[in-house]
Amino acid sequence: MEPPSVTSMAKLLQEPFDPMSCVANVWPAPTPGAQDTVPYAAVVDAMVDISATSSRLECVKILTRLLLAVITRAPADLIAVFYLVINKQAPQHEGVELGIGDALLLKVVSECCGMTEARVKEAYQQTGDLAEIAQNNKQKQATLVQPKPLSAKTVFQSFKQMALMSGKDVMRRRTDTIKKLVRDAQGAEVNLLIRALQQKMRIGLAEPSALAALGYAFALQFLGARCAVMTLDDLQNALNIAASTLARIFYEVPSIDIVLPAVLSHGFLLLVPRSSVFARHQRDLSIRPGLPVKPQLAHPTSGISVVLDRFNERKFTSEYKYDGERAQIHYENGKIHVFSRNSETHTDKYPDVVSVLPSVFEKATVTSFIIDSEVVAVSPETGALQAFQVLQHRGRKNIAEKDVTIPVCIFAFDILYLNGEPLLDRSLEQRRAVLYQIFTPLPGKFAFATHLDSDNVEDIQKFLDQSIAAGCEGLMIKTLEEEATYTPAKRSHFWLKLKKDYMDGVTDTLDLVPIGAFYGKGKRAGVLGGFLLACYDAESDEYQSICKIGTGFQDEALEKLTGELRPSFTAEKPRYYRAETAGVDVWLIESQVWEIKAADLSISPVHYAAIGLVDPAKGIALRFPRYVRTREDKKPCDCTAAQQVAEMYRSQSLAIQKEDVVVSE
Ligand code: ATP
Repeated sequence: MEPPSVTSMAKLLQEPFDPMSCVANVWPAPTPGAQDTVPYAAVVDAMVDISATSSRLECVKILTRLLLAVITRAPADLIAVFYLVINKQAPQHEGVELGIGDALLLKVVSECCGMTEARVKEAYQQTGDLAEIAQNNKQKQATLVQPKPLSAKTVFQSFKQMALMSGKDVMRRRTDTIKKLVRDAQGAEVNLLIRALQQKMRIGLAEPSALAALGYAFALQFLGARCAVMTLDDLQNALNIAASTLARIFYEVPSIDIVLPAVLSHGFLLLVPRSSVFARHQRDLSIRPGLPVKPQLAHPTSGISVVLDRFNERKFTSEYKYDGERAQIHYENGKIHVFSRNSETHTDKYPDVVSVLPSVFEKATVTSFIIDSEVVAVSPETGALQAFQVLQHRGRKNIAEKDVTIPVCIFAFDILYLNGEPLLDRSLEQRRAVLYQIFTPLPGKFAFATHLDSDNVEDIQKFLDQSIAAGCEGLMIKTLEEEATYTPAKRSHFWLKLKKDYMDGVTDTLDLVPIGAFYGKGKRAGVLGGFLLACYDAESDEYQSICKIGTGFQDEALEKLTGELRPSFTAEKPRYYRAETAGVDVWLIESQVWEIKAADLSISPVHYAAIGLVDPAKGIALRFPRYVRTREDKKPCDCTAAQQVAEMYRSQSLAIQKEDVVVSE
């Protein structure tokens, strides 16, 4: 595949576009004096075009133009339109979900599309596409009164209301709301509504691409007619600045409700780090307690000597790599929030963490903070560290402190914010000094990550052995002074993980997404018995197949997985999956992430992982993969990236070459 040239986006977006006339067929100009609002049809039209386009750049262009039209003509609708595009109703950490089951939708489709419920069910079982059934049959229905066109805002607000509904009668109220929407919807709107409600709306653009399109739209709006006379390099530069700054802001303030109004009121210049507008408002758009920061991540490394080479004279520290669950703990105005690695709210899961925290800092001097830590299960008798699997046995939601049977200890390793002040730009050495000054360890409940500041290979080796003996996975090695700021969402080369496994020559586990499945045979008939797994390539926004797997599963586990995955079954291979179709019984809309251990990686004629990164025309495959566990703390797009697969392959080849040298010596 040809890699896109560095100015390809600019080339596409430089084509003339008039937000008034180009979308006129689905979004006519308002009557004089009336307010311009975005019809749902305009959003649907863009989605349909995107679904039918195979080029990612072309998809981004379509979305950019829709967003540009919205920013220009009806900015008050931008939040609703953007939420509809990414099919969410609120920021991720708020845990707001539509939660509409197929049973309810079957009922609504039957009532609104003139079919019996049994007939809808039968058709659904045959085709697996409820949205298509609804659209086709709704079209056949004669309507006496022409419904009022749906607006994007109405659809979004109805979705949000449904997601927030609770208490008595909730099913009836949800049914009524959906019926109203489906009755007013026309043509492809019916299809998109049902897909959105089923959470199967993936149109071929992941959230990072949608955010990039939003950044581009703000840049184009600011540049206006100048776009046409700019060089492609200058235009691309402006597009890149807007997209990357917007992404960075979202890593720190992951809330459309906060970020979009700010960018709308200050415009593109808010996204230009060298502008005075940016300087004036930077603090308003940086991290704050209550909103999860995308955590900094680490790169695997295969040995202490590699660390020394990589850090090249920079001062560094080694910390125990605890085997628990990442917890970003926020405090402000007496309130504590706990967020997972995946930015989900885990405050209810850890009432014991919430209750212990106030006793480890001085409330008189500390008004707010954000710390990064690992929560680890400890033995109630001895206080010894327990493996991650033990922590997994704790309940997940609404746990009462009195019911906690598996105690945990918090191991704090970083502080990102204190008393109204973000600390991201300080070095780790400085942040650690603040952490130590503010908190007081409480045995078995709150501790600092054990560390060693030494560049002596023997000392580090001893420290690594010690960490393993204490029940840790190995070490995290981090720069202390230079290149030692905290960069949200970044997989940093200045944070290295050194696990015992890598040193034994076993590759790191991979976190992969099941994208297809095969039915079992013999006693496993009727149950899924094998899966096609994929990694994710953000560059091309596609899931790339990496291996088939059928080992590592107990029979009961397969039954459980079959049940869990059933709602994700889909008859056709999604367009954003790069995989051979042969032999796959059922495709799965991406929903789960599995940790997989493999013997090694090899260049493959049938799989597509990291295609173009190591071999121009072939992908990489895993050999002898085994299922380890389901990673509930990761979303599909957080799975192992194609780039990481390529790096693993390269470092494996390097290790083999080194062995060859030793043998031949
Ligand atoms: P990744 O987070 O890199 O995608 P992962 O979730 O599989 O991968 P690991 O590869 O095991 O995690 O390593 C990183 C994780 O190690 C961190 O996200 C954090 O939860 C944990 N961790 C344990 N101890 C530390 C420490 N001292 N410093 C930073 N992270 C630590």
